[in-house]
Amino acid sequence: MNLTKLTILEARKLLDKREISSVELTQSTIDRIKKIDPVIGAFISFDEDLALKQAKKADQLISSGSSYPLTGIPFQLKDNMCTTEIPTTCASKILKNFIPPYNATVTNKIYDQGAVLVGKGNLDEFAMGSSTENSAIKQTKNPWDFNLVPGGSSGGGAAAVASGECMFALGSDTGGSIRQPAAFCGIVGLKPTYGLVSRYGLIAFASSLDQIGPLTRTVADNALVLEAIAGNDPHDATSITTNYLTNYLDSINEDLSEIQIGIPTEYWEQNIEPKFKSSLKTVIETLKDIGVTLKEISLPLTEQALPVYYLIANSEASSNLSRYDGIKYGYVASDTKDIWETIENTKGEGFGPEVKRRILLGTYALSTGFFDQYYLKAQKVRTLIIEEFKQTFDTCDVIIAPTSPSVAFPIGSKITNPLDMYMNDIFTQPANIAGIPAISIPGGFHNNLPFGIQFIGNYLSEKTLFKLANAYEKASSFTLTNNIINETMENQLNKL
Ligand code: GLN
Repeated sequence: MNLTKLTILEARKLLDKREISSVELTQSTIDRIKKIDPVIGAFISFDEDLALKQAKKADQLISSGSSYPLTGIPFQLKDNMCTTEIPTTCASKILKNFIPPYNATVTNKIYDQGAVLVGKGNLDEFAMGSSTENSAIKQTKNPWDFNLVPGGSSGGGAAAVASGECMFALGSDTGGSIRQPAAFCGIVGLKPTYGLVSRYGLIAFASSLDQIGPLTRTVADNALVLEAIAGNDPHDATSITTNYLTNYLDSINEDLSEIQIGIPTEYWEQNIEPKFKSSLKTVIETLKDIGVTLKEISLPLTEQALPVYYLIANSEASSNLSRYDGIKYGYVASDTKDIWETIENTKGEGFGPEVKRRILLGTYALSTGFFDQYYLKAQKVRTLIIEEFKQTFDTCDVIIAPTSPSVAFPIGSKITNPLDMYMNDIFTQPANIAGIPAISIPGGFHNNLPFGIQFIGNYLSEKTLFKLANAYEKASSFTLTNNIINETMENQLNKL
């Protein structure tokens, strides 16, 4: 049996019946990482001793008969979530070798269940990008085709989960960074409602948009991981305080017949290559077969989302990233004549080109004289977008949209054209702007590559999204648990 290809739920059963141990499972994962990661490049750091130590502890917990859903399960954290035992770099030279003094709340929550951290995942520097090409450390490759990007910015997590280098990963999504790489790698990625998962210890990119969420091979696994990380945290002032938590996994098979799905013309009539559009539309047919009601809707403000996102995200980033001055954290420029030159050279040498571009754009949008014209205007349009979604959810429960306008693209094909790269997120950013949840699941294949389909819901409607996603997964069978799909991936990885 190939242990690395089990789902979390399958592994849980085997662990609890003592048919396998966490040490065995972790060792198989480590062997796989050692074999394929020199090419895939999904991990920035990887700590074999730490993982095996945690696996031994997990086995003791299982023997005592008190395991949690994630006890003994190998996982990866995106390298922008704080861990005290292993560096947290944000894939940036400026945080190279930085070891945080505390764990992120999500790290602690997962540790509390006794899961096994195998390492930290690659990302675009400070989570800025859609292809993981902006990482200052390495290039992650798409496990379906090594010439293609895995998506971004959580490209390391998506590539690792798809290729069996861990059973789940946590990513962060500011404008699509969980959902788009999940789509490009053929797995499931959820951006939860803003505030459902604590951001404490997630290194900030754009605080009003950032959310942590799970990357998994199946919808059920995703529900299980969300249950482990959701919940109020007094360390995060934006964490939701109401009594909203629910058992996502238990309700996953509930009846769907009441659900009304809206198909927004603005998402489906975009400039998508016609052949890809027809592949995307097969999803609608499958949905009809599972018995939900579908209707056309309109979201006219969709085209405003991209400029609104880049103004708000860059403005917040320019403020958040001002703390990297060579005094408090990480990299410090040497041979400087005074403190001002230290600050200047640290930023100049420590940040990569995309991060600098965003700091410059954000600082410009916030500056006196331009603030009203750009930042304030963007905030006003943000309110209109929120209002538009609110009204739409009076007429339907869930919105269906493509996750991305294309399948995975070749490494190097968009990196020199930032606007082209930014266009990749047109379908994912609106959910971040409104703070609502959205899940991307494998929708099908186009040109032998997986594509994602997105279900967007109202605030705290994760339960409905999981139910619908689970029904689509069962009806379509496009996940890596399908033997034929799994074999295609294995044949590709066996070339390594
Ligand atoms: N690709 C988007 C950006 O570069 C989104 C990134 C993210 O969600 N972290 O800003």
